[in-house]
Amino acid sequence: MTHSPNSAPDPHAMRELDRMRPPEEARAIIDDRIRRLPAESVSLDAAAWRVLAADLIAPEDHPPFAASTMDGYAVFADDSSPWREVIGVQNAGNVIDAEVTDGYTVRIMTGAPIPRGANAVVPVEATELAEDHVVIHQEDVQSGANIRPVGSDVRKGDLVLPTGTVLGPAEIGLAANMGVNPVSVSRRPRVSVLSTGDELVEPGQPLGPGQIRDSNRFSLCAALQAEGCEITFAGQAPDQRTDLEAFLDERLASDDIVVTSGGVSMGELDLVKAILFDTPDIEVHFRRLYLKPGKPLNFATRGDSLIFGLPGNPVSSLVTFEVFIRPTVRQMLGAREVDRPRVPVVLQHDVRASDRIEFQRGIVSVNGEGHLVARNSGAQQSSRLASFVGTNALLVIPPRESPYVGGETVQAMMLGAPFAG
Ligand code: AMP
Ligand code: MG
Repeated sequence: MTHSPNSAPDPHAMRELDRMRPPEEARAIIDDRIRRLPAESVSLDAAAWRVLAADLIAPEDHPPFAASTMDGYAVFADDSSPWREVIGVQNAGNVIDAEVTDGYTVRIMTGAPIPRGANAVVPVEATELAEDHVVIHQEDVQSGANIRPVGSDVRKGDLVLPTGTVLGPAEIGLAANMGVNPVSVSRRPRVSVLSTGDELVEPGQPLGPGQIRDSNRFSLCAALQAEGCEITFAGQAPDQRTDLEAFLDERLASDDIVVTSGGVSMGELDLVKAILFDTPDIEVHFRRLYLKPGKPLNFATRGDSLIFGLPGNPVSSLVTFEVFIRPTVRQMLGAREVDRPRVPVVLQHDVRASDRIEFQRGIVSVNGEGHLVARNSGAQQSSRLASFVGTNALLVIPPRESPYVGGETVQAMMLGAPFAG
């Protein structure tokens, strides 16, 4: 149920809009409205960390020729001559005209093509050179020894990287290896970020009475940057209707996602909530969640553009980013891995539960027996950004009357790797 801008809000629709929803229900509402971004072709030079928009099929065998894996001598394996005459040197990068037969050999380097007639390479360490001939100190030379056959790394036609692969160091190297350049990747999501609140001051400026510094803009932009978004920094808007309306109208015309922070709670100047609700072509889908922190998250759309009205408290805005915006961005990109991994962890101390599902900043480590154990980072107020620092997980604490006790197992949404010991 959504607030439909063209009909007068009736009490039932309002109740439904303000119904507290479980996070999974909210997630399903968002997922339904996500559009996959179009593909674009980019040079490999600029493709690191982008998401592949098409399967990458090997257009050729790799290696393209049988190659030596050692510096040594190319021989015919069954040749039992006591020594062999060296008839040439085969370096990497060209092909010499030489044929290896009984009694002859070619000096060969790592990565060089195997000369005609040869079917093994004897490493230089197992040989002794005497003027123009070489003595092999190796009893048994196996056919195929120290040779990488054609296509032994990748076969032509193999699916080497499926759609949705993130091009990290190995993946982009493999694309280069296959000669694929440019490469087809999803366009970067265009996201704008706006902090709202009369109290906000840019870092570096002196604080007036009652003012605080805008931190959300920086943390949200950093989080979006890590997901490869093209970000428009919009700065701070005062709690004034016209400023907010103008901003939304302008950004929604060009961006895939608009993220605001602040102005969605129950205060008289919480105008983001009011504007989203009042603007005729914006549709609000939900605005209250059984979530701690993050109860007043507003989700709205205009056409294909998504609007996330995040609560202003720094921890609330980052937690709601993790739970809702990051998976949204990754689905838009078509990334194979959308969600952070959730793993069971054993609590190292008691944890009080709330009446909403709670995401607590947590420290997950591997104990002496190799099991994952977790503790929270202390007081969990949603204004305490310091308690996010040094954490690597959000501990998922479902609602319950009694506290969770040390030794109980809960789920941890891993934001980074577990700490050692
Ligand atoms: P609001 O959601 O507007 O009611 O704000 C909730 C709390 O978060 C208030 O204490 C605000 O001062 C604070 N806050 C709002 N926006 C920001 C921001 N961009 N950076 C840091 N704190 C903020
Ligand atoms: Mg505010």
